[in-house]
Amino acid sequence: MSRYIGAVCRLCRREGTKLFLKGEKCYNACTLEKGKRKSAPGMHTNQRVKVTEYGRRLREKQKTKRIAGLTEEQFRNYFQRAERMPGLTGENLLRLLETRLDNVTKRLGFALSMPHARQLVLHGHVTVNDHRVDVPSYAVQPGDKIALSEKAKLNVAVQQALQVIQKRGPMPSWIEVNASHAAGKMRSWPSRDEMSYPIDEQLIVELYSK
Ligand code: SF4
Repeated sequence: MSRYIGAVCRLCRREGTKLFLKGEKCYNACTLEKGKRKSAPGMHTNQRVKVTEYGRRLREKQKTKRIAGLTEEQFRNYFQRAERMPGLTGENLLRLLETRLDNVTKRLGFALSMPHARQLVLHGHVTVNDHRVDVPSYAVQPGDKIALSEKAKLNVAVQQALQVIQKRGPMPSWIEVNASHAAGKMRSWPSRDEMSYPIDEQLIVELYSK
């Protein structure tokens, strides 16, 4: 399945906002903040273009898709699943994305970015309830225990991530972590205000409802 393998800062420039795709660099030396290359990539990007309603909805969908690191097809599948679930479609969609194993691995502080978390999972360094799971899309459920392999605990980037997360204040209430053991647990479903996606999900619902 095709996946974007180009420069990720380009994606932030395209969306005009920080998507936090590069770990620590996003906090210390972000390209957007340095003011060097703020404009959208490509030619003629300094021209004024009126943003249409469709454009706003499209950008919100693209932003979410890029933060999650999904292809268009995968994202649409998630949306269709969210539509079939009871409750608000937009919130269901974000909950499905938030509780993917790669995202939970990142939220627990085991990884500095989503690509890093995905790599840990794909390489078999993450266990769920003591079973190795190497599927980034695995849907974590309340009560599930997530831990890192002994080998991954020694990884410099993982140790750095665990130190960083401890400095960033308290964890959201739906997860708990024991940083010294690189283990954590999902306690409950996340509420909307505890989810990590800084987007207006209603715009995505409107986009797909057309
Ligand atoms: Fe985006 Fe991070 Fe690059 Fe900044 S450093 S532009 S937040 S990927």
